[in-house]
Amino acid sequence: MGESPFWGPDFEQLSAEDPEIAGILLSELDRARGGLQLIASENFTSPAVLAALGSTLSNKYAEGYPGKRYYGGCAEVDKAEVIGIERAKQLFGAEHANLQPHSGASANLAAYGAFVKPGETVLAMSLPHGGHLTHGSKVNFSGKWFEVVSYGVREDTETIDYDEVRAIALQHRPRLIICGATAYPRLIDFAAFRQIADEVGAILMVDAAHFIGLVAGKAIPSPVPYADVVTFTTHKVLRGPRGGMVLCKAEHAAAIDKAVFPMMQGGPLMHAVAAKAVALKEAMSPDYQSYAAQVIRNAQALSAELAAQGMRPVSGGTDTHLALIDLRGVGVTGADAEVRCDAARITLNKNAIPYDPQPPTVGSGIRVGTPSVTTQGMGEAEMAVIGRLIGTAVTNPAAAAAVADEVSDLVARFPAYAQTPVGV
Ligand SMILES: *Cc1c(COP(=O)(O)O)cnc(C)c1O
Repeated sequence: MGESPFWGPDFEQLSAEDPEIAGILLSELDRARGGLQLIASENFTSPAVLAALGSTLSNKYAEGYPGKRYYGGCAEVDKAEVIGIERAKQLFGAEHANLQPHSGASANLAAYGAFVKPGETVLAMSLPHGGHLTHGSKVNFSGKWFEVVSYGVREDTETIDYDEVRAIALQHRPRLIICGATAYPRLIDFAAFRQIADEVGAILMVDAAHFIGLVAGKAIPSPVPYADVVTFTTHKVLRGPRGGMVLCKAEHAAAIDKAVFPMMQGGPLMHAVAAKAVALKEAMSPDYQSYAAQVIRNAQALSAELAAQGMRPVSGGTDTHLALIDLRGVGVTGADAEVRCDAARITLNKNAIPYDPQPPTVGSGIRVGTPSVTTQGMGEAEMAVIGRLIGTAVTNPAAAAAVADEVSDLVARFPAYAQTPVGV
């Protein structure tokens, strides 16, 4: 093979130079492998993606875009970014793609920057009903700088009420309408949002951070034909490096590119851009399409077993990779459930449910997602086991050690990173 450019995985060198951090890298790998990772926004990215992340592309300054940089020596990184942009356009059928946002929040900041001025009105999903921090939280730029009005879910169906969205839009005439959420298990009707946006003359932004991987894998409908702009993270179901991306119509390309750089960011992380290109190639494969479909079947199987354990799935189930579970039926708070599961080596997060009587720091629910366990190769049969284990861990803290033993057996049969990374 000749010389390798990958210094990142040179673990012996890191161990010699900085044993403290090297030790943490090892114990984190042990932690991730040793338990069930059910955080809906996490995944296990491939060794190829990790290799690109650990490369010398991290050193290169490349402010600007391919062919129009503010630094010399960009010929090679230009090629990587062009390949990534072309793959994104092809995979999603998009007219324009920007791979430079450092994160999902940065991608959203850029979209706001492209389309709204401080003080203008934005309509987005309320946080307690599943929206994201960047959709108008008072402690975030979105809530501090913009006039944010919110829609939620109906109390009876726990799904978005499009008549309510339309009524609020007609009343407040937002410049920007955002759909997409961080804890909403159902499909979103992008055509309905498009119609509402057209009726009030708003830009439609779909924040697809959570579910873009399912779109890439052709397991759910795409927002791309309907939205002016689609923002997302690359590290959730999509299984790429930690980062963000923006897709948009050609007419918005210049505004989006200028908003990402120089308005909101400086130099791009070219190692991350290259890693995004690798992940996009992986997402184009038939294997990835099978994966995306399995992620949904697994979430449905897990949700059904939790329901059988007396834990109610919000909205009655899921169409995606995640389920939001109301624990009031078993009399345990979200915060207690998170701690109890953690003691049994099951990692998940407490979550507010719609119309939650508990404060957000406690929460009446948990959120569970299947991207990571599906990457490990688990299927519906394992989801039934996991559902039972969660039921025991949540309701019977004394059984934590016994549940942890069963978790160990399960993850031993479906190891994460079965092939130990180079040098470790
Ligand atoms: C995860 C997420 C983001 C933010 O991504 P970061 O990379 O953590 O900044 C934005 N919007 C939604 C809906 C998300 O789920």
